[in-house]
Amino acid sequence: MPLDLALLHARVRTLDPERPTASAVGVQDGRIIVVGDDAEVRAASGPATETVDLGGAAVVPGLIDAHTHPFKGAIDARGADLTGARTLDEVRRRLAEERARVPDGGWVLGFGLGYDVLAATGVRGALIEDAVGGAPAFLLFMDLHTGLASPRALELAGVVGPVAFDEASEVVCEDGRPTGELREWAAMDLVRAAIPALTGEDRHRLYVAQLRRFAALGITGTHAMDGSLATHDTLRRLEAEGGLRTRVVAPFWITPETPRDAWQVLAGHGDAHGARWRGGVAKFFVDGVIDSGTGWLVEPDTAGDGTLPFWPDPARYREAVGFFAGHGFQCATHACGDRAVREALDAYRATGAVGVPVHPSLRAGDPAPAPGTRVQHRVEHVETIQPEDLPRFAAEGVTASMQTQHMMDLAPDRSDNWSRRLGDDRCDRAFLTRTIRESGALVALGSDWPVVGLDPREGMASARLRRDPADPGRAPYDDQALDGLQALLGYTRDAARAVGEDHRRGTIRPGLDADLTVLAEDPVDTPAADLTAVPVLLTLVAGEVVHRAG
Ligand SMILES: [Zn+2]
Repeated sequence: MPLDLALLHARVRTLDPERPTASAVGVQDGRIIVVGDDAEVRAASGPATETVDLGGAAVVPGLIDAHTHPFKGAIDARGADLTGARTLDEVRRRLAEERARVPDGGWVLGFGLGYDVLAATGVRGALIEDAVGGAPAFLLFMDLHTGLASPRALELAGVVGPVAFDEASEVVCEDGRPTGELREWAAMDLVRAAIPALTGEDRHRLYVAQLRRFAALGITGTHAMDGSLATHDTLRRLEAEGGLRTRVVAPFWITPETPRDAWQVLAGHGDAHGARWRGGVAKFFVDGVIDSGTGWLVEPDTAGDGTLPFWPDPARYREAVGFFAGHGFQCATHACGDRAVREALDAYRATGAVGVPVHPSLRAGDPAPAPGTRVQHRVEHVETIQPEDLPRFAAEGVTASMQTQHMMDLAPDRSDNWSRRLGDDRCDRAFLTRTIRESGALVALGSDWPVVGLDPREGMASARLRRDPADPGRAPYDDQALDGLQALLGYTRDAARAVGEDHRRGTIRPGLDADLTVLAEDPVDTPAADLTAVPVLLTLVAGEVVHRAG
């Protein structure tokens, strides 16, 4: 059988130690068949083979973002994009623009609001009231853990004072009146419930458009970090209609309110999968975020916050981890604060095993995983850590899933909100990407989109620079930089390994899936500061062209 597709005249970086470089790749039936020079790949071609001369462009394994919220994000990232707005005036300007786009009586939405913008004034909905012309407005902070509601929005939602929640959520009040600040989801949902609902078709259109963006950025796979049985239905429909341009690992999000009966039901869907998506992962949040004081810390932060777990009863979290791991689910736990990281490590250790077996959909068929392969549980974020817990990742077989775009805007003089909350000592142990990797632990990289930008070039650049690549005047935050190869591995081989898929993807080798990203320049050799400007020329998933630069 001749090849379906021949990529020639390329600089192929395979990440396969047996053959690190090549100049051509041949694809057939969704798999990589030949990795070699142009003559070898031509020899396997036939009259029906599509031949693409890449003119010296770079081919790398398809980029995998190990932490995104693709479906929640497609819904949340609506309205005014407040990402990167550094002053209240700039936020107001963007909101006024959005107000002009919204029909009369409509809600003004926004996302990506930074905490530092409101550091001087306090978080108050009244601050944006004029900018939105008195309309109901709901803004999401950049980490999605806090919302800001305008006075009219609070009124429409009927939020007039403090509310008691089962989880660590809060309607922030002053003198018994809500300020507009809503901490964590249960509080935000009170106001979101008043926003006119999207139809199912609206949502589907947003999902399709969003996955197109993933492909355009060279992303061939992602690990979604929230989800439910409904997410599986979404994925089935996307796949049936040809809209699933990115492979998705879709976990079930287990909250403190998820009843035990539901655990049992969800456990019955661990094997669920399509051709490009699968379940088999349980996702937990064991704390919130440092910026709002909801990260769970060993010692309180400088404002006296950070002493509460997100699960009111951490023993129940450990029980849930034990339950899902016992049913073969890989567990992933959001843990920003050092106390939360320890809690996750303890819960994993208490399961009595390293991780779980490879997902059933990846065990069958060819190529098979090495016998006895275990898929390690994961801790997401690891924003700060106690020294005695650091070696536990390697020693106990736990993956660190880290996102350096979260730290790229931190001020090297530690004057930003995040750093001030933690103080110098804990900032010395901030986002220890290099040290954790050097300890022998598996480190997967990702973005956490829509909390930060989705662009994996920015993700890799920030891992190498420890600052915002768009801000050359800024000094690096610390000395935790990865090199170019390590950053690429974090977005390819190691991300695949983090979900037990590296026998199928993450390197370029005959027999593996033809998930490939073609960039105009090699991302390892390109200076980190130039990486975000390197065009993504072609994205292939299972040999299908899901993006081609226009
Ligand atoms: Zn996340």
